[in-house]
Amino acid sequence: MDLENNSMKNQHSDLLFGTSNKGKPIIIYESYFFKCNKTTESKKYWVCNEKACGVYVHTNINGEFICIKGDHNHSSNPDEVTVKLLRDKMKERILVETTSITKIYDEEIVKANISKGATALIPTVVEFTHNLRFSSRLSKKHPNIWCFIQLIQSEHVRFEHILIQLEAGTSPPKQSKKNISFQKRFETVKERFVQQQINANELSSSLSLLIGKKKQ
Ligand SMILES: [Zn+2]
Repeated sequence: MDLENNSMKNQHSDLLFGTSNKGKPIIIYESYFFKCNKTTESKKYWVCNEKACGVYVHTNINGEFICIKGDHNHSSNPDEVTVKLLRDKMKERILVETTSITKIYDEEIVKANISKGATALIPTVVEFTHNLRFSSRLSKKHPNIWCFIQLIQSEHVRFEHILIQLEAGTSPPKQSKKNISFQKRFETVKERFVQQQINANELSSSLSLLIGKKKQ
């Protein structure tokens, strides 16, 4: 995972880095969102996300704040920022941990200790996993996944996290770790079947997905 994706922190206390839903780098400055507009040898220019606003933030190549130009013609939404940071944090954990999505979701919401306004902006766990799933390129690469989605859709929503974990787990592992991670995912799926968290159809879909990946 690259640094920009991984870390929402920066030297400047008011400047945060993140990734847009489309995977483009963004910054958040004083609760306003900016997207990168231009990069030169020494500077990056970030323009306010709001159309027709035109406020610019200049940073150096390393993302250190230089200055801000202009005044926003709209108000900021700190709740939106809180939720954005929360979602990024959840995504980050989902990709590196084997903890269930539902648990990660619940834990991060508790940790965030958010305001009432922000609470209304938080996606439900189902919306959240749905968005994750469709933002993943893997779902287009694996025809198996569509069978799995159809099966999952007819099941209890709490089981949706299994699909996401499988998808997250199928991101290209380092060669040397390939077999280890396959084994781990295999054990997880098997365990979930034994614990009756997934049914036989889901087990077989999961396994075909895992095996399909292993053959690549
Ligand atoms: Zn603006």
